[in-house]
Amino acid sequence: MTPRRRTKIVATLGPSTSSPERIEAMILAGLDVARLNFSHGQASEHRERVLRVRAIAQRLNRHVAIMGDLQGPKIRIARFEHGRVTLQPGQPFTLSTLHPLDAGTDRIVGIEYPPLVQDCAPGDELLLDDGRVILRVESVDADQVQTTVLVGGELSDNKGINRRGGGISAPSLTPKDHKDIELAAELELDYVAVSFPRTGADISSARELVRAAGSPAWIIAKIERAEAVADDAALDDLIRASDGVMVARGDLGVEIGDARLAGLQKRIIRHARTLNKLVITATQMMESMIASPIPTRAEVSDVANAVLDYTDAVMLSAESASGDYPVQAVEAMARICLGAEQEPTSTQSHHRLGETFARCDETIALASMYAANHFPGIKAIISLTESGHTPLIMSRIRSGVPIYCYTRHVGTQRRAALFRGVYTIPFDATRLPPADVSNAAIDILRQQGLLQKGDWVILTKGDFYSDSGGTNGMKILRVH
Ligand code: PGA
Ligand code: MN
Repeated sequence: MTPRRRTKIVATLGPSTSSPERIEAMILAGLDVARLNFSHGQASEHRERVLRVRAIAQRLNRHVAIMGDLQGPKIRIARFEHGRVTLQPGQPFTLSTLHPLDAGTDRIVGIEYPPLVQDCAPGDELLLDDGRVILRVESVDADQVQTTVLVGGELSDNKGINRRGGGISAPSLTPKDHKDIELAAELELDYVAVSFPRTGADISSARELVRAAGSPAWIIAKIERAEAVADDAALDDLIRASDGVMVARGDLGVEIGDARLAGLQKRIIRHARTLNKLVITATQMMESMIASPIPTRAEVSDVANAVLDYTDAVMLSAESASGDYPVQAVEAMARICLGAEQEPTSTQSHHRLGETFARCDETIALASMYAANHFPGIKAIISLTESGHTPLIMSRIRSGVPIYCYTRHVGTQRRAALFRGVYTIPFDATRLPPADVSNAAIDILRQQGLLQKGDWVILTKGDFYSDSGGTNGMKILRVH
């Protein structure tokens, strides 16, 4: 039996992936987490995508999580008269707070964030659209920034602006983010990603807003500012405050320079996993597939390397939101993940041998992984869980043994779709006599052909099935 893919796929939904047919094809191709990018599109469009994903996933009997990605305080240009322009190197180009927002040309475009003007000084370099277009600031007056185009190219509506070296993003969640948090709560999204956080405190205040809106969504911190990776203490502060992080290579690469990205990606993934948090690797992974049905060798290698770094998930942005080959991009990612997972380093672990554990459920989770990786008869780990916390911790450890998240809660069923090597099985232990639970749990996997007579299984649970964080027992069982 070929092993099941362990690394998960996040894909951004957009104009290319809104129809029910496309969404169904994406899920069948391996989509695990659908990302809504609140920087683009209307609430009504996002609402419709959510309804479609949920309905189709249910019909296909698949567990797909949905992540809302807040726009955050990123500075963006406004819109062009005809949607896009082409800028030539050497030409002048003006960013203006007075110019009408829908009437940009190849000489001038509006900006909705007046303080940008004060943040800029002559000689600064402004990077637009993740650095595809570069402008040099020549002069600044009260309402506009005059620039010369250093690197030209196509520029379309609402593209982001960064300054080389960082430091122009406004400090906190915007009024639009507040509204989108309400929307995320209304749509019962499983994850909310926070853009441009500087510190753990930014994440904690975002979490408070999400909870106040009535949402239990887990919070993903996007690592995309120079300040966030200034040193390990700053990075760990952000990771600790979140449930997971995104290596947001688009903005991060602009702020710190592309040459340092690969090393930082590895460090961010390692730190996130050690701190028992999720990690998504994002941006330009399959960039050429926006316009081509096959990826380049460099892109294949990039996805494979993220898998070998042991990311939980790889992510598609424009490739799936607005590209020509969204389904092929998911298929290609799925194939590359599976291929990279064949490498022995993907399944071997050093198991934090020199560390102490902080909690009972963490101790059970890590003991289970030690047992699973060292007793070759073990073919599955079954974690009976409320919040999903135990399978999350288990999946921080490298292993080739599948981890099944058995839960009665729909939110946990979907959320676990993002965890590497974890697969959801809906299961309500509270409705069974305690003596029948283990056999019933094993029977499900046996009926699906995932276990055979003679296989060994690890099963973890709490004495009280309704206690979150209450996992305190581990059994090793033989399949009869
Ligand atoms: P974005 O975030 O796509 O929302 O900009 C990801 C990144 O910056 O890489
Ligand atoms: Mn970004």
